[in-house]
Amino acid sequence: MGFWRQFLSLFPGRPISLARRATLYAAALMGGMAIVCVLAIFATVLVMGTESARRAGAAQAAEIVQKVASHDLSLSEIGPTELQSAYSWRPIHQTLFHDASGRLVARGYVVDAPTPTETIRRALDTAAMQTSVHGGVVWTAAPLTVGGQTIGVVSVGIARWRVLTSYLAALLPLFAASLAFMLVAIPLAVVAVRRRAQPLETLADFADKMTQQRAAGATNGRIEIRTGDEFEKLAGALNEMTTRQEKLRRQIHRLAYVDPATQLPNHERFRRELYDFLDRGDSTARNGAVIVFDLDRLRRLLETLGHEAADELLRAVAERVAHAIKRVDRLVRMQDSVERPSVLARLRGHEFAVLAPSFANDEEAMRFAQMATSAINQAFDWRELKLTLDCAAGAVVAPRDGRDPDTLTRNARLALASARQQGNCARFFTSSMDRDATSRFTLEKDMRLALERGEFRAYFQPKIELATGRIVGAEALARWVRPDRTIVSPGVFVPAAEETGLIAQVGDAVMREACWNAAAWAREGFPIQVAVNVSPLQFRDERFPEHVIRILEEAAMPALCLELEVTESVVMENPEQAMRMIEPLRARGVRFAIDDFGCGHSSLASLSRLPFDVLKIDQQFVAGLESDRHAPAIVETILAMAATLDMNVVAEGIEREKDAAFLRRRGCGYGQGFLYGAAEPAPEFGERLRRGRTPALSIEADVA
Ligand code: C2E
Ligand code: MG
Ligand code: MG
Repeated sequence: MGFWRQFLSLFPGRPISLARRATLYAAALMGGMAIVCVLAIFATVLVMGTESARRAGAAQAAEIVQKVASHDLSLSEIGPTELQSAYSWRPIHQTLFHDASGRLVARGYVVDAPTPTETIRRALDTAAMQTSVHGGVVWTAAPLTVGGQTIGVVSVGIARWRVLTSYLAALLPLFAASLAFMLVAIPLAVVAVRRRAQPLETLADFADKMTQQRAAGATNGRIEIRTGDEFEKLAGALNEMTTRQEKLRRQIHRLAYVDPATQLPNHERFRRELYDFLDRGDSTARNGAVIVFDLDRLRRLLETLGHEAADELLRAVAERVAHAIKRVDRLVRMQDSVERPSVLARLRGHEFAVLAPSFANDEEAMRFAQMATSAINQAFDWRELKLTLDCAAGAVVAPRDGRDPDTLTRNARLALASARQQGNCARFFTSSMDRDATSRFTLEKDMRLALERGEFRAYFQPKIELATGRIVGAEALARWVRPDRTIVSPGVFVPAAEETGLIAQVGDAVMREACWNAAAWAREGFPIQVAVNVSPLQFRDERFPEHVIRILEEAAMPALCLELEVTESVVMENPEQAMRMIEPLRARGVRFAIDDFGCGHSSLASLSRLPFDVLKIDQQFVAGLESDRHAPAIVETILAMAATLDMNVVAEGIEREKDAAFLRRRGCGYGQGFLYGAAEPAPEFGERLRRGRTPALSIEADVA
């Protein structure tokens, strides 16, 4: 059975392999050799047959001649005995006796055949034996010589085919044996060659399988060949190659799809999971949730920890997050981790994400996000520290909130940013967030262009000494002057500039313009103090002091004329760092003001430790002096406190003379507001300085 299967498998539908070709060639060679042998035998028999017929004819003729001579017979006496003996051998066709004149005297025949007249004639003429072949009959003509005289010719005709068949008959057993041998030997040879070449086919099949597997993204499997020859060696080498390739493939896969620090799927892998989910999404009636978690505390910790400790912390955090997700999965989705499990990934630094497939409704997904966030936010112990991760989450429903992975992640991040802004722990994405983000994006693009074109300008609002009405300084306020001369207020672009980090460049432009102008006014004889607002982001940059010093030097402006305004919250967030920024600048003479005082949560202790020169009362208290019954008391308290700390006070947003009078009476030294003038471009402000215009009237009224 196996034999026939092997034999028949030589004729497959697909292209013929090398092993099969070898087998077929072997079979063809053997068959060919057998045919050549048979043909050779036939040729030999043919040649031998003719020769034998010749020799037999000669012997027969000689015997008759001998008989005639020994009996001393005349031709006419040749009788049946002689003729009989002439047919004693089956191949003999006929025997002819001719006399010396060439006349036929006697004839005995089995088969009639044309007389070889020419040969007979030659025998008579030469008195020697002659042979010839006519129509398949070999003729031998021998002269009959009696007493030295040729009395005639005996001609023996032997049918060549008869001689051949007699030979072939003798050879028949040999042929039969050969045929039987071939019938057995050829298939045997085929199978033997095939068996020897089989490993080659196995190797080729294995190579095919590997190619297919590689296309499918995996290469595993071994080939077993135990022939002890080159095939086994080749198989061994192939096995080693595939093992090494598989190992490499796994390594590459890990590098591409696994986060090395946490061993969680990375961003790329998460994208693929989302793709797969969205692909099969149509078949499942339920939606999935994509939740992005931001661990703000982790970010700050990672910034301060060394490499090893950071990795260890990350592993601990990843474990914690994974544990939290598993628990919430079981509670909210009633899912065991095996059936449609959530996929947790680390997207980047302190950002993790979960794809939780199949939710009944949005509420369930929200519950998942909230519970996961608060589970992650539970305090935990790490290296004798009690850590909370300050986690917030943004969630989207897939495919409703995005039909591709990037949109889903982006929208979840928008929801996360909104959660952070609103101080929530988790928020769902809404289309308005997308609109906001799009307009922020456009704004950012426009701002970059505006920075290149120098559209951010400093406008100057006068700062007045309330007692005299003299301009003692100015606050430089940023304005975005668009090419069509429309002016965008900082309330619109400062938050966006802070979010995108562009505030540093905007602040830089304003400070430069403020310093160059202040230096020019000082040279003109108006050495006023210019206050510049500093954003928290600028203040966090360790290179900020040297940057300010460079601007002062470039503008040739006395440091004493520069005042930097920072908000309370910036200072209170990290007083040590604030000191590092303030000290080198203060040492040069730069003054510092606390802006919008009263809005934040200043601690009196920190405030007294920090070397501020000026305190600016937020405009809401000034505006509320009449309407808000607490405002006057607050303003008075601030003024008293400033006096204790030996700080100057500037009241912001003075719009009414009444309020100015109140502030003056309570000992507030300086003020600014629309009552004295709104912010204006440098040329106009310079003009104002030159005119020395002050609201003298109001002071007089107050004094009166
Ligand atoms: P701020 O530093 O408290 O500036 C005072 C704001 O009050 C200015 O608004 C000013 O135009 C406005 N103002 C002045 N007098 C009155 C008044 O009598 N009544 C009312 N209602 N408002 C008055 P502006 O120019 O829109 O600036 C808003 C805020 O933007 C500033 O508040 C400051 O925090 C920020 N800002 C402005 N320029 C810059 C800058 O160059 N860099 C940074 N980082 N922030 C800036
Ligand atoms: Mg200010
Ligand atoms: Mg202010």
